Amino acid sequence: MPPLNDWQPAQIGLAMAFLQELVIALGWLTTGWLLKDVRRPAWHWAGFSLLSGGSFLNFVFSAHAQLEPVRLLGNTLFMAALLLQARGLLLFTRQPLQDRPSIAAMLLLTSALWLWPNHADAPWRVATISTLSCLCGLWITRIIFRFMRHEIAHSRWMLMFTLPSLLGAAVLGHRAIMALLEPERLIQASIAGTSISLTTAMLWVLLSLSLELTLFGLVIFKLGGQLRRAARHDRLTGLLNRHAMDDVLTQERQRSRRMGTPFSALMIDIDHFKQVNDKLGHAAGDHTLRTVAQHLRQHLRATDVVARWGGEEFPVLLPATHRTEACHLAEKLCDGVRHLPIPWGGEDLNCTVSIGVAQWRTAGDTTDALIARADQALYCAKHGGRNQMCVEPTLVQTGHIAA
Ligand code: GH3
Ligand code: MG
Ligand code: MG
Repeated sequence: MPPLNDWQPAQIGLAMAFLQELVIALGWLTTGWLLKDVRRPAWHWAGFSLLSGGSFLNFVFSAHAQLEPVRLLGNTLFMAALLLQARGLLLFTRQPLQDRPSIAAMLLLTSALWLWPNHADAPWRVATISTLSCLCGLWITRIIFRFMRHEIAHSRWMLMFTLPSLLGAAVLGHRAIMALLEPERLIQASIAGTSISLTTAMLWVLLSLSLELTLFGLVIFKLGGQLRRAARHDRLTGLLNRHAMDDVLTQERQRSRRMGTPFSALMIDIDHFKQVNDKLGHAAGDHTLRTVAQHLRQHLRATDVVARWGGEEFPVLLPATHRTEACHLAEKLCDGVRHLPIPWGGEDLNCTVSIGVAQWRTAGDTTDALIARADQALYCAKHGGRNQMCVEPTLVQTGHIAA
C-alpha cells in the first residue's frame, strides 16, 4: 500500500464510506438487539452495511493490488448487500420471502465475472452487473411501495421513501447502457486498475447512504405508528382505550351540534366477572374479556365505536342513533352475549352483561354527563338483577332476566 498522501480521491472517499458503513452496521446490530420486533430485518441490514462497506474497501485496495479476483469480489459483495437489504425489507414489511430471484441473480453475477474476468472485458461485465443491480433497486422500490401503500396512502411519504432506491436503479440502468454504448469512456475514466470512476464511486456511496437513511426512516415510521396505536388502544382486547374514546365522544358532540342529530351511548359491564377470575383464574378472565370484546365489535355497525374502559366495562358510542334504536341494540347485545360460547379448558364458559343506555340531550349536555347517565342506567340494570339493559331514567326489562 502507498502512503495515505498518495491515495486517489476516490479511494479516500470510499475508505471514509467504509468507516461510515461500519458505524451504521453497529447501529443496526444494536437496534436489532434492543427491538425484538425488528430484530431479523435489522440484522439483515447490518449485513447489508457490512457487505457494502466491504465492497468499498475492496475497491480501495484493488486499485493497487493488481489481483483480478480481489476486484471481482467487490461486485459480488455489492450485489449480495443489495439482495440482503431486499430480504430484510421483505421481513420488515411482512411480505413473503423470495429467495429464488436472489439466488438466480447471484448465479448470473458469478457467470458474468467468470465470462469477463479481465479489465478489457469491463464494459460487458459492468453492463451485466449494473443491469442486475438496477433490477434489484427496482425490486426494493416495489417492496417499499407496497408497504407504504398499505400503511399510509400519502403520496408525499411514498415518494420520499421510494425515491432513493428508484434513483439508484436509474443510475445503475444508465451505467449499464453507457457501458455498452461508450465502452472506451468507461475504461478511460476508471480509477487505475478498476472499472469505476470517481463520479461512480461517489454516486455509489450516496446511493448506499440514502438507502440506509430510507431504512432508518421506515423503522421510525413503523415505530411511530405502533406508539400512536398503543397510546389509543387497549392491549388486551385491541379496542380503543378511555383516552381515545374521550376524543371520539368530543368529535361526535361537535358533529351532533352542527348537524342537529342526536346520538346515544351504552355502558356495558360483564356480570359477576370477579367470580370468573376467582374460580378459573386470571387467564380465563382475560380470555372472556377478549371474546366479549370481539363479539361486541362484530355485532356493531362500522360507524359505532366501542372501547374498553377500566376492567370489564365497555362504553359504546352510537352516532346518529335515537334512544329507542339504542335500546333495541342493547337488548340484542345482551341476548348475544348470553348465548356466546366462550371455549375454555375443553368446556364452554358463559357470561352475561348488563347495559345502561343514555341519549345525548340537545340543551346543556356534556359528554361527562351523558356517560354519567349511562352509568346510572347501568347501575339500575345491575340492581334489577343483571343480564338486562336499562335506559335512563326508567328501567326497561328485556324479558330475559337471569335467575
Ligand atoms: P358486577 O356484576 O357487579 O359488575 O360484578 P363484577 O364481579 O363483574 O365487578 P367487580 O367490579 O366486583 O369486579 C371486576 C373484576 O374485574 C375485578 C378485577 O379483578 C377484574 N379485572 C379488571 N381488569 C381485568 C383484566 O384485565 N383481566 C382480568 N382477568 N380481570 C380483570
Ligand atoms: Mg362487572
Ligand atoms: Mg365494572
